Amino acid sequence: MQNVAVVGAGLVGSLQAILLAKRGFKVDVYERRPDLRKAEILAGRSINLALSDRGWKALDKAGISDEIRKIAIPMFGRKMHAVDGTLTYQPYGKENQAIFSVSRGGLNQKLMNLADDYPEIGYYFNMRCEDIDFDSNTIRFTDTEKDQIVEKSYDAVFATDGAFSAVRNRMMKYPMFDYSQSYLSHGYKELVIPPNEDGSHKIDKNCLHIWPRGEFMMIALANLDGSFTVTLFFPMEGELSFASIDTPEKVKDFFEKTFPDSIPLMPTLLEDYFSNPTSTLVTVRCNPWNHGTQAVLMGDAAHAVVPFYGQGMNAGFEDCTVFDELLEQYGDDWNTIFSEYSRLRVPDGNAIADLALNNYIEMRDSTADPDFLLRKKIERKFSDLYPNDWMPLYEQVTFSHIRYSDALKRGQYQRGIMDEIMQTEGIYEKWDSEEIMNRIAEKAKTK
Ligand code: FAD
Repeated sequence: MQNVAVVGAGLVGSLQAILLAKRGFKVDVYERRPDLRKAEILAGRSINLALSDRGWKALDKAGISDEIRKIAIPMFGRKMHAVDGTLTYQPYGKENQAIFSVSRGGLNQKLMNLADDYPEIGYYFNMRCEDIDFDSNTIRFTDTEKDQIVEKSYDAVFATDGAFSAVRNRMMKYPMFDYSQSYLSHGYKELVIPPNEDGSHKIDKNCLHIWPRGEFMMIALANLDGSFTVTLFFPMEGELSFASIDTPEKVKDFFEKTFPDSIPLMPTLLEDYFSNPTSTLVTVRCNPWNHGTQAVLMGDAAHAVVPFYGQGMNAGFEDCTVFDELLEQYGDDWNTIFSEYSRLRVPDGNAIADLALNNYIEMRDSTADPDFLLRKKIERKFSDLYPNDWMPLYEQVTFSHIRYSDALKRGQYQRGIMDEIMQTEGIYEKWDSEEIMNRIAEKAKTK
């Protein structure tokens, strides 16, 4: 195998291209859109993402994390905004552990620029993959600039063409390929907190801000230019929803009642609400992630997940790590590499999809709940005392490289223990007592 194609020059495709080039492959990267570096980022599409340990590991492997750190802002905890304006801070992990806010467009551009340093990598823009013939491994593209069909054959194809992957569409036509997709009843819309006049941030840039309100939730992550990208998660339909909140008066009224402290921060709220698109959230699962040795799915093409664990891209970057480790381990035994990749990663893709859906409930409902905050405090204390026996689920997912499928199982077990502990009479008074710590230790050790 020498000549390979990457279909989709998003975050995962660009990183995978670098990792493949480092191993000496000649890599052609095809992207249906124009070159992002020459185009304006569309308003309301300025998503910023939380980059965490799994993502950093893949970037380390590619030798580019120092470059990416330059465009990343550390966030050491969540800051919850209550309706009355009260702020509650909850650290994400131990001291100095952080997740990092990065602009999706900025990161994508940077990855492309870094990929340009490799003569082995060629980028082809305005090339929309239409289909793939697995017998000859020929990809059919529409060159959207010239409006013509182009066909190219490769030894292997890395499909990183996102949640609605064209390569996956072809794989679905073969027997024994499982596929499911499901939409959340909530969608999202981006809003903005602009910088202060002197370019500084209006609220603490080193936190992920959350306005948890049960059925509704808003979050804000800092950008390098002093602004914040705010994301409003809201039902698509229903009494209070994107469909029903459809006039400036209704938006104002809703925000005044639900997110009052955010109003002075967002002078362009009404303009943004009505001009920015409303987008949907989908979970995609499939199996297997390879078609023989012809193609593999990576990133959202393999596992689109809802964004509530901040892991979609991180999981995609971890796909790259795992694939690279398999290349290292099995050399040119592509049969084993492709099938092992699929065997190892499918359960983890399903697990992060479940974890993300569960965290949706937690972020919406529980982050404002005193019981939830106490649970987190107890877990933190116990985990500091017995780090080998207990790592809180959030830390397993965000600050470790434990397989997602193992984290999901351990998390469920730990949850059972904490459910029981929280039933203890007077738990609010004696939460950090020796008695409570010993009871958790007994249960955690019997596993
Ligand atoms: P994409 O980024 O979708 O890239 C796919 C690329 O393929 C695109 O460039 C597309 O134009 C191209 N393409 C598509 N079809 C074709 C075709 N037919 N032919 C050629 N090219 C094609 N993840 C995190 O880790 N942390 C977060 O905090 C986080 N927050 C999020 C918040 C929101 C609101 C959303 C929506 C997502 C969030 N994610 C987060 C998820 C993250 O954005 C995705 O997981 C990540 O972008 C996936 O990267 P990808 O390269 O697999 O796919």
